[in-house]
Amino acid sequence: MKTLLHACCGPCSLEPYKLLAAQGHDLTIAFMNSNIQPRAEYDHRLATLREWADASGIPVVEGVWDACAWRAEAGHITAEGGPREDRCRHCYRLRLTEAAAWAAAHGFEGLSTTLAVSPYQLFDICHEELVAACRPFGLVPVWQDFRPYYPEATRESRDLGMYRQNYCGCVYSKAEAEEERAARKRARAAERARREAELAPLRAAEEAARAQKKRERAAYDAKQRAKKAARKAARAQLKAQAAAAAGADGAAHAG
Ligand code: SF4
Repeated sequence: MKTLLHACCGPCSLEPYKLLAAQGHDLTIAFMNSNIQPRAEYDHRLATLREWADASGIPVVEGVWDACAWRAEAGHITAEGGPREDRCRHCYRLRLTEAAAWAAAHGFEGLSTTLAVSPYQLFDICHEELVAACRPFGLVPVWQDFRPYYPEATRESRDLGMYRQNYCGCVYSKAEAEEERAARKRARAAERARREAELAPLRAAEEAARAQKKRERAAYDAKQRAKKAARKAARAQLKAQAAAAAGADGAAHAG
């Protein structure tokens, strides 16, 4: 089947491409991601994708980067205090609808997305949006759970030296990812402090036992030294007495 694979980035494309190609899909990759901010980040992700795709002989088509359209469709939701789920739903909608329209206009039969590989995406919402995007164009939504392959995609993209971004794409996701990393760091620090507090009495007891052993050892050594000194003094006294006795004998003989 002639299938358009919507791709969010190079690393996320590796495993879905491999799996779909193995299933017989005739694939073209579509980079249609008006969500990515700033523009330099968008360019970096696209260049990373192209470098791998060009080397692998995979065709790539690019959409229009339209930050205003993304704000109007999805970004305003968070700006107005709406939940992330709504924002992401509309973000998927914008990108997948663009991909579906392009696929239909260029004779494709199916549409898939690499978003289904990332455990950070909203899997079910993304699925619903893919189905909805395909429906008006009569496309087959090619939806598979690629998430079990995410660790492999991570490993392979590292091996290939690919650029790996640390946030989903939009400005909000950047702030959210930074906050999540900071929260994880705080949680790790709190866990370390908790473990330290738990171990502190044990360490204090060990320290006290070590100090007691040291004191006992010092007392034993002092006792041994005193015994040695006493023995030495006794030997010296015996020697002196023997010398004195020998002196007295000598004087008696001389008399
Ligand atoms: S977090 Fe990702 S999917 Fe959600 S709105 Fe931002 S860029 Fe789109």
